[in-house]
Amino acid sequence: MKTEVVKIREDDVQTPEGRRLLERAGEVIKAGGLVAFPTETVYGLGGNAFDPAASARIYAAKGRPSDNPLIVHIADLDDLTGVASEVPDEAYALAERFWPGPLTIIMKKKPELPAETTGGLDTVAVRFPSHRTAQGLIKAGGGFIAAPSANLSGRPSPTAAEHCVEDLDGRVDMIIDGGRVGIGVESSIIDISGGTPDLLRPGYVTASMLARVLGKKVEKCFGVEKADDRPRAPGMKYRHYAPRGEMVMVRGDSADVIGYINAEASGASGKGIRTAVIASGKTAGFYTCADRVYAAGDSPEEIAGNLFGILRQLDADSMERIFTEAFDGGGELSEAVMNRLIKACGNNIVEV
Ligand code: AMP
Ligand code: MG
Repeated sequence: MKTEVVKIREDDVQTPEGRRLLERAGEVIKAGGLVAFPTETVYGLGGNAFDPAASARIYAAKGRPSDNPLIVHIADLDDLTGVASEVPDEAYALAERFWPGPLTIIMKKKPELPAETTGGLDTVAVRFPSHRTAQGLIKAGGGFIAAPSANLSGRPSPTAAEHCVEDLDGRVDMIIDGGRVGIGVESSIIDISGGTPDLLRPGYVTASMLARVLGKKVEKCFGVEKADDRPRAPGMKYRHYAPRGEMVMVRGDSADVIGYINAEASGASGKGIRTAVIASGKTAGFYTCADRVYAAGDSPEEIAGNLFGILRQLDADSMERIFTEAFDGGGELSEAVMNRLIKACGNNIVEV
């Protein structure tokens, strides 16, 4: 399959050329094809949510297990009732505060929505993204686009169109290049289909922000430490983000972390192993013994924006032994970053 790459930035959406391209992309979706597109979180791989064959194609293109459900993207609040059978008041309260934006809400699904799209579950995950290119595509494509992240299964989510090309060239019909995304980690996922609101995946919208709107506690159900726990978001049980090299997180006081990593890196480099460090902007200069240092930034926002690109770059640079600092302590967005980073390390953490 030949993959067409078209450039549609948010500012292009209102131009005649931008509208023409979005219409074309919408035709691809309506015909059952697949289009990778930018959102404010990461790039998504979209297909018509009501077309079971399109959902099957998404799983095939990503190499994703088909019991790992897709998020349905809408661009109009009224369309919520098109996919959810019951829309609780809580959903409207959350939508009012956080939509359009980086929050996914899980509700009971309508029977008309194909089981292929929801991985066989009786619930549906819905999101209304704020990215104007995404909104344009959703509208042009019929209003309901099923989309997981536009990466090969197991690889880091794409934060730029080049990442989509890297993973999906030849496997999808079209890739919309909207430039680098703003947030860089996937949407927060809240499940309100049961009795209590549960945060299944941490993201830019945090548990305390959600709790404030709902007026009740939001349980954090995304621990990756206890491997025997039954995953609530089915995606949690799959290997994620891991670079090909062996990766370890080193935690402790900054001076101890730097000392430990330098000693380990110099030992490994001495044996001809290519060593890398992921560090904050402030500490990057202290890692003198590794072959390469990747500075992730200092604020949680910066680190979130850079993380997935760095994880991809590690493979592009053929790094074999990777050390990362722990980027915790910066509030709940840091928790979202740490959640991805710990998965990338396969839970391999050294306390120093
Ligand atoms: P991705 O955006 O690629 O991370 O994929 C979508 C994520 O949403 C996956 O982790 C899914 O497990 C999760 N998800 C989608 N629908 C549901 C649902 N109905 N219940 C629980 N998790 C869901
Ligand atoms: Mg994903």
